[in-house]
Amino acid sequence: MRDNNFLTEMNARHLWHPMAHPGEMQANPPKIIIGADGVSITDLEGHTTIDAVGGLWNVNLGYSCQPIKDAIAAQLTRLPYYSAFKGTTNDAAIELSVRLAGMFGPDGMTRAFFTSGGSDSVDTALKLARQYHRLRGEASRTKFIALRKGYHGTHWGGASVNGNPAFREPYEPLLPGCFHVPAPYAYRNPFDESDPERLAALCLSALEAEIEMQVPSTVAAFIMEPVLGAGGVIAPHPSFMPGVRDICDRHGVLLIADEVITGFGRTGDVSGARHWGVKPDLMCLAKAMTSGYFPMGAVMANDRLAEVFEGDGGAMIGTGYTYSGHPVGCAAALACLDETERLTLWDKAAYQGARLKAGLQDLATRHDAIGDVRGEGLMCALEIVSDRQAKTMDPARAGRIFETTYKAGAMVRWSGTNLVMSPPLILTDADCDRIVSALDEGLGAVGAA
Ligand code: PMP
Repeated sequence: MRDNNFLTEMNARHLWHPMAHPGEMQANPPKIIIGADGVSITDLEGHTTIDAVGGLWNVNLGYSCQPIKDAIAAQLTRLPYYSAFKGTTNDAAIELSVRLAGMFGPDGMTRAFFTSGGSDSVDTALKLARQYHRLRGEASRTKFIALRKGYHGTHWGGASVNGNPAFREPYEPLLPGCFHVPAPYAYRNPFDESDPERLAALCLSALEAEIEMQVPSTVAAFIMEPVLGAGGVIAPHPSFMPGVRDICDRHGVLLIADEVITGFGRTGDVSGARHWGVKPDLMCLAKAMTSGYFPMGAVMANDRLAEVFEGDGGAMIGTGYTYSGHPVGCAAALACLDETERLTLWDKAAYQGARLKAGLQDLATRHDAIGDVRGEGLMCALEIVSDRQAKTMDPARAGRIFETTYKAGAMVRWSGTNLVMSPPLILTDADCDRIVSALDEGLGAVGAA
């Protein structure tokens, strides 16, 4: 193994990282992870921590899931690749489509379109939404509406519906016809409303007003994460997503659930939409579909879309990827979904999520750096402030707590003024306690601002 200095220097010289400033790599080198076991990771210096981020919200089964590793090895030996473009397909892709149809059949979604990741899934869903309306003779429905603070990947469509200026402004002009409405973020919102239910009602009115302002016959779809992830783990009141479904239905607008983080158990149910009792028209999947063992994603479409695309007036789906239906990814996903179901990971997420949140709430009684504790299932965030009363954001303090917590034994995700947690769903009570106690130590070490 190369020594630490060599890797740090070469990283700064040759490797540009997503969402990072290339010029800062020397002064602020990233942690170089070289090994993992169960729910723990080890860096180049030999420091082992619990991975409270779960890779990047995706490693739901931890790092030692032998059935996925075996399935990948077997598929590589038998058939490492074959395309699913018109005219050919492969057996692993067919098996996976059957599997997903079984999983999401209760939500009315029995058609799968495979992609290589979350951004692909989002752009595919946006395109299918437009094409659906066009096929039905409503070609004027081209616009998209999304939530501020929402994150939908980084392709042009996803960046255009993204609700964070940092991912938009450097790449403008983006897709025309994309509009944003306030997210039901109870800790900070333009309505100054802290009651989640009343806030949900206000945000729903804002959505409906925007659709009316744009004129409904020009709006193709509304896209939302059932629980906003990268925007800081914002879980809406349970009335919000059903309210969105109702508004979309009344205006002929499709509902796209971006389940790239929330799909396959993280919220405490099979999908985030099901968690809120909602049936979307299109669903974007990726991440936990293979628990991070292989890049893979999918879009699920419901019967309403199936009827139009497969009916007399249907047409070619003019989009797709070389790796749509990659047999190794499909084999990884099949093994991953077997394990996910065998262990009923969603129940574990609900149980450990409640446990983790209670632990974090307890920390908030002792550490005034914590302005807000949020979460749903096993996705949680601490919002770090310098003044609780004024809710003053303090990203630098969050960064210091991230470092001291890492030293104390837990990798959390530092994102602006938030510390985010999305650990593997196989978490045990002891693992959960380790995350809380490392944060306790980390917060204590940083102390007052
Ligand atoms: N949508 C959501 C909700 C996401 O969280 C992400 C990734 N964090 C994406 C889309 C994009 O996925 P990917 O990074 O696999 O392209």
